[in-house]
Amino acid sequence: MSVHSTHFTIGGVLLTLGASCAAAEFLGYWLHRLLHSDKFPALSQGHLIHHFLIYGPDQAMRYDKYQDATHGRFSVGNVGLEWLAPCALIFFSIWGILYALRIPPVYVAISLLALVGWPVLMFSYLHDRMHLKDFWMARTPILKIWFCRARRLHEIHHRALNDHGRMHANFGIGFFWFDRLFRTIGRHHLPLNQAGLGVAIQRYGLLERNGRLESSTEAQIHAAVGKHA
Ligand SMILES: [Zn+2]
Ligand SMILES: [Zn+2]
Ligand SMILES: [Zn+2]
Repeated sequence: MSVHSTHFTIGGVLLTLGASCAAAEFLGYWLHRLLHSDKFPALSQGHLIHHFLIYGPDQAMRYDKYQDATHGRFSVGNVGLEWLAPCALIFFSIWGILYALRIPPVYVAISLLALVGWPVLMFSYLHDRMHLKDFWMARTPILKIWFCRARRLHEIHHRALNDHGRMHANFGIGFFWFDRLFRTIGRHHLPLNQAGLGVAIQRYGLLERNGRLESSTEAQIHAAVGKHA
């Protein structure tokens, strides 16, 4: 073992943490965009249930309790396979790359911890609480400025549809750095794109009742079977 493997500094730790969290935001952004692209329909299913059957573009965004999209599907907690499988693949790929680059083991460990911890905190914990009526961050001075702004941008993500019936804005959750960089940031609520919603309803085989999307779990997201129009 080289002498460098035990040789670590506070600067090195902070740099490793910063780079790992930024990498997690970058990968999370692109994985989220991938789930909205329908390139892998089986992967998109759970996320589309979250978007069209539970917190649909014309439905309420907050309830007293979080409404899981993993009912009757494999999940860890309420995180479905559509996130777990790609995340596992990314995690082991990065581990392999860091090993090949001979990064000292202590930094590899810090990096891998951040690559798990950051997404769990941001994409799972924080995201789910954006859909609650009451959450402590929204009541906490200073923190609420950041949280309420991020929640507003996430609600725009849920409501903004393009003419192809796809969400096209704000793929970040807590931070929107890559939405700004790749020009997918949507800062304002726009009137609901009814034509776009109609396209999505057709594509995914969504059910409607009284002009609203049917929230019942019996409604199936058509993309799940990969039958693309
Ligand atoms: Zn989404
Ligand atoms: Zn959401
Ligand atoms: Zn289809």
